[in-house]
Amino acid sequence: MTHNFGAGPCILPQEVFKQASQAVLEFNGTGLSILEISHRTPEFEQVVDETIRLIKELMNVPEGYSVVLLQGGASMQFSMVPMNLLADGQTASYLDTGVWASKALKEAKIVGNVNIVASSKEANYTYIPKDFTIPADSAYFHYTSNNTIYGTELFETPHTEVPVVCDMSSDIMSRVVNVADFSLIYAGAQKNIGPAGLTVVIVKDSILGKSGRKLGSMLDYQVQIEGGSMYNTPPVFAIYVAMLNLRWLKSKGGIADIERENLAKAEALYKEIDRNPLFKGTCNVEDRSRMNICFVMENPELEKPFLKFAEDREIIGIKGHRSVGGFRASMYNALPITSVHALIDAMQDFEEKHRN
Ligand code: PLP
Repeated sequence: MTHNFGAGPCILPQEVFKQASQAVLEFNGTGLSILEISHRTPEFEQVVDETIRLIKELMNVPEGYSVVLLQGGASMQFSMVPMNLLADGQTASYLDTGVWASKALKEAKIVGNVNIVASSKEANYTYIPKDFTIPADSAYFHYTSNNTIYGTELFETPHTEVPVVCDMSSDIMSRVVNVADFSLIYAGAQKNIGPAGLTVVIVKDSILGKSGRKLGSMLDYQVQIEGGSMYNTPPVFAIYVAMLNLRWLKSKGGIADIERENLAKAEALYKEIDRNPLFKGTCNVEDRSRMNICFVMENPELEKPFLKFAEDREIIGIKGHRSVGGFRASMYNALPITSVHALIDAMQDFEEKHRN
């Protein structure tokens, strides 16, 4: 069995891939492939409806929020958020916790004024700044809940009266969040939801229509909501596979249950990183991500041999991002705990081999 610790895109359970492949050949008794069926057919409209319904159900989305399925990735949201929410002359506050957060604020600067409330850039983003104030007149406060590259995660939503906007691309649906704490949540689907090409936005209706800015239709949340996520041709296959994966998540007991598994997976691996004298974690302990676990070796010369040692056991995708080095084990919802145990065994056997 291959143990895929890759950071994405799109790590899903085998059973979802199997169902998806079947629908490429024949979708739901239509005699057509899911790839060729018209998105305006009742069969496909049902897919969109069920996908949105499952997102609302699994995340417990309250009344007064819309869920829209878009394209352009989370990166498109870096621009759409300020375009829709930041009026001329207003300032938006951003927390800079990594490359994705800083890309988001860079795009916001094109639209209006940006205030960076805090940054951990000076420490290569190895911690989440805690001590900051969000000015009460900010149009919104933006943060990234999980920093995919550095392996830090913000578990507590910062308390503020200002509308909170969150990039949850790499930890959405991995743990329970209170959607009512947010005015807008966005996520590229390609970690815990489904294939790349789909972006999920959950937005509080009452914050829209206030920027006074005239936008191109595709960039306007209101237009997308009114178009029922089908203002233009939607990414039909990505939505279909997301729906299958959301069904899988529901059948597993939902987000609270998967959160327990994710916690057990992360605790097991961090425990080994902290115990094994060959390895060490790269982040502030209290900010450690459950989704992307970054670690290095005390002796960097052993990193390549360990990578090979792990690969020989079909443990793949653990090479760290170039800006951190070492290793990154991404452990999204679909990764079984048996894979985590396989990695831990490899670390222990490698330790045994290098005992001097
Ligand atoms: N935000 C976070 C936290 C990410 O991890 C990523 C990609 O990995 C992005 C944004 C960019 O997403 P996309 O490629 O969908 O634009």
